[in-house]
Amino acid sequence: MSRVLVLNCGSSSLKYRLFDVPAGHGWNAAGGVVARGAADSDPARDDEAPAAAEVEPVVVASGVVERIGESEPGAPQNHAEALAAAMAEISLDGLTAVGHRVVHGGLTFTAPALVDDAVLAAIADLVPLAPLHNPANLAGIQVARSLLPGVPQVAVFDTAFHRTLSPAASTYAIDAETAERYGIHRYGFHGTSHAIVSRRTAALLGRPVEEVNTITLHLGNGASACAVEGGRSVGTSMGLSPLEGLVMGTRSGDLDPAIIFHLHRVAGMPLSEIDELLNRRSGLVGLAGVNDMRVLLAKRATGDRAAALAFEVYCRRIRSYVGAYYADLGRLDAITFTAGVGENAPAVRAAALAGLDRLGIVVDPARNEAPERGARVISPPDAPVAVCVVPTDEEWEIATQTLGVVAA
Ligand code: ADP
Repeated sequence: MSRVLVLNCGSSSLKYRLFDVPAGHGWNAAGGVVARGAADSDPARDDEAPAAAEVEPVVVASGVVERIGESEPGAPQNHAEALAAAMAEISLDGLTAVGHRVVHGGLTFTAPALVDDAVLAAIADLVPLAPLHNPANLAGIQVARSLLPGVPQVAVFDTAFHRTLSPAASTYAIDAETAERYGIHRYGFHGTSHAIVSRRTAALLGRPVEEVNTITLHLGNGASACAVEGGRSVGTSMGLSPLEGLVMGTRSGDLDPAIIFHLHRVAGMPLSEIDELLNRRSGLVGLAGVNDMRVLLAKRATGDRAAALAFEVYCRRIRSYVGAYYADLGRLDAITFTAGVGENAPAVRAAALAGLDRLGIVVDPARNEAPERGARVISPPDAPVAVCVVPTDEEWEIATQTLGVVAA
């Protein structure tokens, strides 16, 4: 039995899950979650218990630590206090390792890494590429290292799964020397999710992952598409940062870069304001005033025109990526929806793939709307492309990757 603590530290949050992993359990098994908790002070985020958790947890203890850095009485002032509070709630006896979600691994990290001083320095070097995320991830690692001396710490990167992208798929068509000097490159994110979901899709279809080409659609607050060829990422919609690609809860996704110059020149907006506009006040919230798909769907049902348009823009963007990745892959076996929206919004799944029957992509209405929660196929039985819904489990993927590093 191995016990793994998975930490996901954001700027104002600390989420943890503690897994007991019986010997011999692989990524496709359900881990026994012993404890789970979250701390968050960012009201823009929807942080209920992840809709994705399909494992049947044995919750021996759970903990929530709230509002890191806020001035409320009793609020933890930093990640050290938040982790200490979490540790007071749960027993970390016999801990095998700690797995940390790290957002940006740049081109440096193609796989999870056992943390040492050199790895910490390399993560710190990548802060300019992920100015909000990597500092919080680093803080989490440093705190865990000092509170749990002697326990191996492993960094698992959101970008690593996409390091199989070809140069043609990861190169932006700008001046090559400038790109090289400043690290302008398609890195891609949500890698742990695309990895586990593409493998679980192959398992659902009863086929070896090496033989299956899948488009995975991770639709949560952040959203990204990934073309996975035989288990390897060959295309993904997020790029240098998580801003590119699909329409998200608060992020614009793809747009004409000249919009930025225009807002700067004509509207006189400082760059920091444009950054905030595109990351926090765009996407669904920008179009319809709400970032939660549940609320958006309810508004749309009452005839709200802004909500209807936001829904169309959101689904159309997904369809465009499906078409592009189908063309890139040449042969497509499966399309898989995952994360909060992907797993729970049949209306989005149906609208995003509407009109693609000639490509062999059909959603069966009854299967799509059935109130099931596990991994399932929602296309008709004989459809050329299997359309699937597969719950993601990034924490479990981090736990198993962590154990893989420690065992190596
Ligand atoms: P995160 O990206 O923060 O991990 P999740 O994957 O948990 O997010 O997805 C959060 C999103 O999922 C929320 O914006 C919410 O609107 C959406 N969501 C959750 N449940 C449903 C549902 N039943 N129907 C539609 N959308 C849902």
